[in-house]
Amino acid sequence: MNYPNLFKPLDLGFTVLKNRVIMGSMHTGLEEYGDWERVAEFYLERVRGEVGLIVTGGISPNEEGAVFPGASAMITDADVQNHSGLTEKIHLEGGKIVMQILHAGRYAYSESAVAPSPIKSPISPFCPIELTSEGVEKQINDIAEAAFKAKCAGYDGVELMGSEGYLLNQFIVSHTNKRNDKWGGSYEKRIRFPLEVVKRVRERVGRKFILIYRLSMIDLIPNGSTWDEVLELAAEVESAGASIINTGIGWHEARIPTIATSVPRRAFSWITKKLMGHVSIPIITSNRINSPEIAESILEEGCSDMVSMARPFLADPNFVKKARSGDAKHIVPCIACNQACLDHTFSMKLTSCLVNPQACHETDLLYTQTEVKKKVAVIGAGPAGISASIVASQRGHDVTLFESKSVIGGQLNLASSIPGKEEFLGLLKYYSSEITKSGVKLLLNTHAEQKLLFSFDEIIVATGVQPRNLKIEGSDNANVVSYVDVLTRKINPGKKIVIIGAGGIGFDVAEFLTSSKNSTSLNLTAWLKEWGITDPSFAAGGLAPEGPKPEAASRDVIILQRKNERLGKGLGKTTGWIHRTKLRARGVQMLGGVNYENISKDGILVSFGSERKDSRMLKCDHIVVCAGQEPENKLFKELANLDLKVHVVGGADIASELDAKRAINQASRLAASI
Ligand code: NAP
Ligand code: SF4
Repeated sequence: MNYPNLFKPLDLGFTVLKNRVIMGSMHTGLEEYGDWERVAEFYLERVRGEVGLIVTGGISPNEEGAVFPGASAMITDADVQNHSGLTEKIHLEGGKIVMQILHAGRYAYSESAVAPSPIKSPISPFCPIELTSEGVEKQINDIAEAAFKAKCAGYDGVELMGSEGYLLNQFIVSHTNKRNDKWGGSYEKRIRFPLEVVKRVRERVGRKFILIYRLSMIDLIPNGSTWDEVLELAAEVESAGASIINTGIGWHEARIPTIATSVPRRAFSWITKKLMGHVSIPIITSNRINSPEIAESILEEGCSDMVSMARPFLADPNFVKKARSGDAKHIVPCIACNQACLDHTFSMKLTSCLVNPQACHETDLLYTQTEVKKKVAVIGAGPAGISASIVASQRGHDVTLFESKSVIGGQLNLASSIPGKEEFLGLLKYYSSEITKSGVKLLLNTHAEQKLLFSFDEIIVATGVQPRNLKIEGSDNANVVSYVDVLTRKINPGKKIVIIGAGGIGFDVAEFLTSSKNSTSLNLTAWLKEWGITDPSFAAGGLAPEGPKPEAASRDVIILQRKNERLGKGLGKTTGWIHRTKLRARGVQMLGGVNYENISKDGILVSFGSERKDSRMLKCDHIVVCAGQEPENKLFKELANLDLKVHVVGGADIASELDAKRAINQASRLAASI
């Protein structure tokens, strides 16, 4: 059998989970949309994909605990009714689902936020209201009541969100709990709140109902829990009535990445392993697990009893089914970019997925079989062209994909060369297998000349972008190079570098040029040291006393931009801070509000502001141009004048602020419509 540990059923005494894979909680925004057919279809797709157990997004037990005003909650009879429709459908398809109860505490984005103590979080503008004794009782009762309502709505259980710095976690840690009543002070008193919650929930829902407690195993904040405290809490949580313990890693306010693409795969399974054998209920591990091989190895090594994956189920709802049936190489890989999931969530936009635009659009983006098979030519095998080809071919069209280079991937090849972005290699591998599987005829090293295209019914031009040329005096000097030449290692830049342009590529190039050969994303020990993470047995919260130890920069780098604003402002909402922190730690200088005066063999002369003051020569060996792109649309313009059905997608359409998310989404939607 493929992945024998992953597909071993788990008997909880009153119910059996068919495998060891749990789809972790994700806030998608679908519930707030109010279209419960759409919510159901999102989860049903994952049930049909054979996941063992689903945890819903966080549902608030009351108004003050909502992540933001109006966030989904389990309070009224109408809420019970909405959720009942969902659970009924899940059960009809043979799935199991638990509702996560999330009380945000001081993370609630609202003036009515409540917490054990009135201490503002660094990631919220609101100072929470300190709970009175009655207030504490109310929160416990509301959570127990929400659990009971979840049972009435047909859920198989609940997960209590006790980690990531939410309310339960805020009571546990002295950093946020300064009370001196029975809910604060000693550790025993600080854990009274979560334990009381578990007890009352269990009393309210009875024995035969799954109760998962998500426990923060490493807080990654100052004055976080010690390992002995974690062990004590886990044992008490079991005694109080939990049926499973799930792993939480790091508070949201921690300045340490925990799920971004630069975090090594399975970076935290060693922490869950430390808890194995200390409780008798099953333990789940999580964070940066995105393939069945990794999940299987975690179980095989005894790091946990189950594995939780969340974003991989946005990327591919059929992850488990494909793994079981020997089709793992066709699993669409989650590259942990956060671009269409968490970045959307934190911008109050509906979640989706960069590599799978159908995620959370299960009812409006359908790849239906075509009734009229057409001959489709796709020109350019970058992310847009590949996505268009695969979708059109899966729908039954006869697709030919032309690529002038010897490899597929376009800009993805450049992205995969950046230390910390190795996941892009997996995406390229997947695309390669999928092109073969879907029957796309791939013609590499082939220019799609007009004469080759007349026989096609539809032509999709996805010829991508070309780097923007600079119009600065001296920009054609030999010391001025393009980011393409650097990332493809056509040139080996000197030790002193100035980068023009501070967009995603400018930052990527700075990362590339300051990193040592070995990416810390591929070396867990080096990565933990880089971010100052240690075993929580040695330091409370897992923060190394010596602090982060960033690797020494291999070059002196200055990044420039003309806009007079913080550099990297346009980077990913949930990941931009990681890039800025890393580069600052390596001594990279970031200058905004710059005018480029001229370039000489010694470097670049710049001045600042509209008065062009403070002229300064930035001496360097090379100037790397990362000044954005222009559409590569010559072919499209030629074809548009002919009597052909021609479309243009991706960067060839609009280059400005193009990223793979927009390219893949636009191309997939076009291919779904022809
Ligand atoms: P970009 O984000 O548009 O940034 C271009 C940079 O060049 C800006 O800093 C801009 O700043 C500067 N610039 C623009 N025109 C210029 C000119 N004529 N002369 C000098 N400087 C000029 O483009 P990019 O960095 O090439 O990235 C392309 C796309 O890929 C973007 O949409 C980006 O989001 C995406 N990407 C994303 C990531 C990620 O991690 N999510 C990584 C890489 C790329 P000023 O105009 O202020 O000088
Ligand atoms: Fe994964 Fe990126 Fe998709 Fe989010 S958007 S699920 S991180 S691939």
